[in-house]
Amino acid sequence: MGDVFFTNVRIFDGGGEAPFTGEVLVQGNRISRVTRTGYGIRTPTVMGAQVIDGAGAFLMPGLVEAHTHFSWNDQPSLDAIQRMPPEEHILWCAEVAKRYLDMGWTSCVGAAAAKPRLDVVIRNAINDGTIVGPRYLAASQEITVPGGLGDTTAPHLPQHEFAFGAIVSGAEEMRRCVRMFAKYGVDTLKINLSGESITGMPSEMSQFTEEEVAVCVDEAKRWGKRVAAHARSTWSIKQCVKQGIEVIYHASFADEEALDMLEAKKLDHFVAPGLAWLINTCHNASAWGLTPEVTRKMGYHHELECAIESMRAMRKRGIRILPGGDYGFAWTPHGTNAKDLEYFVKHVGMSTMEALLSATAWGGPMMRMGKVLGYVREGYLADLLLIDGDPLADITVLQDRERILAVMKDGEFHRAPPLRHARTATRWAA
Ligand SMILES: [Zn+2]
Repeated sequence: MGDVFFTNVRIFDGGGEAPFTGEVLVQGNRISRVTRTGYGIRTPTVMGAQVIDGAGAFLMPGLVEAHTHFSWNDQPSLDAIQRMPPEEHILWCAEVAKRYLDMGWTSCVGAAAAKPRLDVVIRNAINDGTIVGPRYLAASQEITVPGGLGDTTAPHLPQHEFAFGAIVSGAEEMRRCVRMFAKYGVDTLKINLSGESITGMPSEMSQFTEEEVAVCVDEAKRWGKRVAAHARSTWSIKQCVKQGIEVIYHASFADEEALDMLEAKKLDHFVAPGLAWLINTCHNASAWGLTPEVTRKMGYHHELECAIESMRAMRKRGIRILPGGDYGFAWTPHGTNAKDLEYFVKHVGMSTMEALLSATAWGGPMMRMGKVLGYVREGYLADLLLIDGDPLADITVLQDRERILAVMKDGEFHRAPPLRHARTATRWAA
């Protein structure tokens, strides 16, 4: 890959400072130089590098999605996802992976696959260059209990192929299940600690015994795997802290004790609430029969209020809240994920700066690549976006593909900026 030299860009480096005008040199897959410029002074161009005159565009780290399901297929139900045959399903995942990169998500943390090996196969295919997609951490299926969230079998059709999740009962089955997914090569074990009202098991219910959860965590540790939990209920959030489950998805019903526990261990956890699911299920799913009346009865309007209150409290306590969450339903299609950042600003009380940092600086450690990912700094991996506009002034520009002028992953353009030839350099066409 050739070197790339961005000039005349406003650099948001992920450190929380105001953006500055400068230049960024990418050599190989790394950022090798970041310089401030001003008053028309420009550092010498670099021999042999492709020069991109940003014409004042906003250069920032690639976005990190903390709760991704490539295998959710933009359909209105879990059954519709599960019934997709594996052959079509893997093609779908490949297509979706590309969509994420297109929208500036250069890294995604897998949060469960609908079939046992979908995530692993996609991650491997991205890594070896067979398909195009973001950096990806592969997840297991959702581990659940009989009758729990993810057990979509019918009494007369008990075959596990009909189940959305991997169903276990008791410590030994849990151990076997974790070992099976470790054998397949997942990065993350996903466990459904609480219910999900749309499936019939209330969000406020917690389904696993303490012993089963402990076995999951213990076995995952043995294999060097991370555990992530679907945890909406109060009890399940506390279970995550007690058992050392690093990634907490949803965390809607955090009471004072749960908040205290989380705050005391705030550097050990990431929270990704997935507000888009709640907001759109409450307000934008009528076309699929989920009118506000129906979703109110299911408890989602109450949950949304609680979730917003919980996130506001967590933000105040410095608990890391990250974007991402259950995109891939008909009313939350893949690719619209930057809505989360808008919701953080609108509902959680974050500044646009905090929202950007939640998707960049915190994304590095979320990807377990904290020392090399999430900043525009020398030595960091060159995952970069060039934006037409200022996300700090209007966070919604990140939802618009046209405004994302360029996407670079690992030093290579997935999408190069549209070029207009000028005398000294090429610049994106305004
Ligand atoms: Zn999820």
